[in-house]
Amino acid sequence: MKELHVMVIEDHNFQRKMVVHMLHTLGVKLVWQANNGKQALELLHQKETRSIDVVLCDLDMPEMDGMEFLRHLSKLKPGISVIILSGMDDAVISSVKNMAGSYGLRLLGAAEKPASLEQLKLMLDEHQWVEPKIQPYASISPVCFTLKEILYAVYEKQFEPFLQPKVEIKTGRIIGAEALARWRHPQLGIIAPYAFIPLLEANDSMEELTFQMLKKTATASRRLHDQGFAIDISINLSLSSLNDTTLADRITRTVVDAGVDPHHIILEITESAAMTNVAEALENLTRLRIRGFGLSIDDYGTGFSSMQQLSRVPFTELKIDKSFVSDSPTNHSLRVIVESSIELAHKLKVRSVAEGVEKQEEWDMLKRMKCDEVQGYFIAKPMEVGAFMLFCEEYAAIHYEEPKMAAQGGVRY
Ligand code: C2E
Ligand code: CA
Ligand code: CA
Repeated sequence: MKELHVMVIEDHNFQRKMVVHMLHTLGVKLVWQANNGKQALELLHQKETRSIDVVLCDLDMPEMDGMEFLRHLSKLKPGISVIILSGMDDAVISSVKNMAGSYGLRLLGAAEKPASLEQLKLMLDEHQWVEPKIQPYASISPVCFTLKEILYAVYEKQFEPFLQPKVEIKTGRIIGAEALARWRHPQLGIIAPYAFIPLLEANDSMEELTFQMLKKTATASRRLHDQGFAIDISINLSLSSLNDTTLADRITRTVVDAGVDPHHIILEITESAAMTNVAEALENLTRLRIRGFGLSIDDYGTGFSSMQQLSRVPFTELKIDKSFVSDSPTNHSLRVIVESSIELAHKLKVRSVAEGVEKQEEWDMLKRMKCDEVQGYFIAKPMEVGAFMLFCEEYAAIHYEEPKMAAQGGVRY
């Protein structure tokens, strides 16, 4: 384990000393201590505390409580790892977790009081292997592109799909992949979608990128089928594209021209896009379904939909958002949401897919709940098409019933 520098904020002397003692036992040499949020902030302003990697923080403290402290912390040390020390129930922890995430902090977990050595160790280990929220290229210098730069790159066709496998739980086989846009920047390397999609969306300029992705994804699909991998590929559509009634025809033509049967392509639309009342969107979606495309409701659970609204769109797959999946084995509310989403999918006779699966316990739980498919870092991260083909070959050769942690999975971004 890399040497860690930790800060413990806890007003209860005995509890704090116990945690500090456990940290020393786990090999942490440098531990800073504070009685409350205010004192912690004063310490954090000192030069000596610059190297702190992880902050352990109680929620209920005098003078400045944990919530207020986390807000200040996020400004002082964006992205820093945090462990919450609390005796509160799941629902409270879960809302603090959301709050910390929205402030851009990396919550490693919540330790019940009194914390156990094992629990602390697991969470500190998490700090070591969880990849930083900020991508490596962004950490060198926070890259911010102008619309003009992005549109030029689109014109230069610098965008390509990275594929992330989707595995059927029952058989353990790769039966699909999601195509996720990556910008292969000539100087900066691979750039993730958050650096270009929001700006394109905001300027109503997604069209070109969508078709560039569709074309390259259809070509990849053709190559995969030629190599004997009969898998379906999913591609994301933005709401703005759905308003043009010529969309379904243009998508069909692009896919068919690449020699691909639309039955092998799934179009993902976010829940809010799928629930739109816009007649044009419904016309497009229905037409695409009739042509044979699969339709998936992406980020399910993050928007608002009623059974009646769901029944208006002829979708074939329900993709449960990763914010519900991660931690669901240990969080009662999340587990209920995931389980009822799977049940809903089955009642509507569509496939259930869980995204963001990172851990064995999540896989086991989803298997018990009879979820159809999973996607997530537990299997592999998105990778370039060539690496994906190799991954499929290795995966098929090993052909395990249940995947082990995916250390062998291609290029990771
Ligand atoms: P999304 O459609 O919800 O895609 C899933 C995102 O979750 C991907 O992020 C993927 O890399 C990430 N992911 C997958 N497994 C895990 C996991 O186990 N843990 C965690 N923490 N994350 C996981 P990515 O590639 O950065 O894409 C972000 C979003 O950008 C996508 O979210 C989608 O909304 C959008 N996007 C990406 N490509 C396209 C595209 O070609 N067109 C459109 N319209 N949107 C796209
Ligand atoms: Ca998606
Ligand atoms: Ca999603």
